Amino acid sequence: MKIIDAHVHLFDTPEYLSRLIRVMDDYDIEKCCISGLGKLFKCVDNQGIKKALKKYPNRLIGAVFIRPGIDTSQDIYNAFYEGFKMIKVTIPTKPYDDPTFFPLWEAAQELKMPILFHTGVVTIPTKAHNERISSWYMHPMRLEVISNTFPKLNLIIGHFGVHWNDDAAELLRMKDNIYSDLSGAPKGWRVRVDNIGIKKWLWWPDAFKKIIFGTDVIYSQISQILMEDKTRLDKYNIDPKTQELIFSGNILKLLGER
Ligand SMILES: [Zn+2]
Repeated sequence: MKIIDAHVHLFDTPEYLSRLIRVMDDYDIEKCCISGLGKLFKCVDNQGIKKALKKYPNRLIGAVFIRPGIDTSQDIYNAFYEGFKMIKVTIPTKPYDDPTFFPLWEAAQELKMPILFHTGVVTIPTKAHNERISSWYMHPMRLEVISNTFPKLNLIIGHFGVHWNDDAAELLRMKDNIYSDLSGAPKGWRVRVDNIGIKKWLWWPDAFKKIIFGTDVIYSQISQILMEDKTRLDKYNIDPKTQELIFSGNILKLLGER
């Protein structure tokens, strides 16, 4: 089965990219959607991603990091013409649904670039005292207005809302253009959800059809997340066709590649 990891970041440490590619080779991950969140997150920036895309054009799908309130719609247009295919947003300076951000979402809709939104409480690996970072700005329900205003724009909820799973799940159920990944660290929110059983949230017949595989962990933990996700899908007898959507079909559809 074709596997695409839709949520990967490129950390700014030596050999990171080659090690990531090796893990992808070892676990049959054909491609990953990769973004750089810059220094605050100990990542490379968008220029670093551009270089990586040149090096591995057949393995990497570029996601441009846009910080709402700092970056502009022009940055999205420029990124598109430089080969980026999707957008990753996090740590906005105001709530995601603030009307001043609408030009960003409008550009993304016009360019048919899906947007991966960080949602839920955010972990910043560096000191960021003056950055006005608020997880409230990244509540999944902030995507409601964006989803309604831009019906042709596809939105991906990162981390299933972390602790706002109820809201993330109902958005998946009610909104055609909202999807979610289940990405997160091995000992994080996924443990709580799996202990309870994810069916508590993904309870309706086609619920798993709105899930997109993504890891959002360092390269050495990707295999564990992949294994946990496969185990979860088998536990709930998710049919092969739906699994195909989760592991590649949905993200390829959103990228306009199938
Ligand atoms: Zn992320």
